Amino acid sequence: MTTITNALQAVRQRIALAAAAVGRPAAGIQLLAVSKTFPAAAVRQAYTAGQRAFGESYVQEAMEKVAVLNDLPLKWHFIGPIQSNKTRPIAESFAWVHSLDRARIADRLSAGRPSNLPDLQVCLQVNVSGESSKSGVAPEDLPALARYVQTLPRLKLRGLMAIPEPTDDPVKQRLAFVRLRQLLEQLNAEGFQLDTLSMGMSDDLEAAIAEGATIVRVGSAIFGERHKTLKKD
Ligand SMILES: *Cc1c(COP(=O)(O)O)cnc(C)c1O
Repeated sequence: MTTITNALQAVRQRIALAAAAVGRPAAGIQLLAVSKTFPAAAVRQAYTAGQRAFGESYVQEAMEKVAVLNDLPLKWHFIGPIQSNKTRPIAESFAWVHSLDRARIADRLSAGRPSNLPDLQVCLQVNVSGESSKSGVAPEDLPALARYVQTLPRLKLRGLMAIPEPTDDPVKQRLAFVRLRQLLEQLNAEGFQLDTLSMGMSDDLEAAIAEGATIVRVGSAIFGERHKTLKKD
């Protein structure tokens, strides 16, 4: 078995154990394999091992992989910062966007989504770590943004996403995830029907699952360490 196949199996096992520990069915947790900075061949390998959903953060890089892998029935999720001049390729090639955090981008994704495709599934990215993070809507501005996105054609609002400040302390990890879950519960109490909490990565997926994650976004635990040189769009 290849390294990626082994690593995928190990991550699936972690998800199953974390779910069992809190009495949740593992089937309620989707594994998103974050393939950013890794080549198309690595994605193909993960596909062979049964993985179908892949996360990308950089539009240019993603579009190259989407093109090379278009013989495979993959679901692409965009999870990176969204520049307004890059919304069209995202709207045309992705099934999901996790990192929507402002109305102007929502307008452009809605307008750019081809009408022959299913609605673009979206999560609103929330800044649950305060000043230390530049991305994500502030919790106090979340309800208004959610109401607005709900009105847009060709977008389907599914839930919330967060990238908390990294910490090794499992208690602190859980606090950020609790905050995101409570924000989702508040929206649902207001009448939304959101079913998705996109939270948890390689180092904190157990804490996220304990607090209700329905999608965990896992990169390095599947594909290995990323090189530090960040690819820019
Ligand atoms: C890179 C990335 C991940 C995966 O992080 P790992 O620590 O490698 O699992 C998850 N979510 C987002 C938004 C990312 O940019």
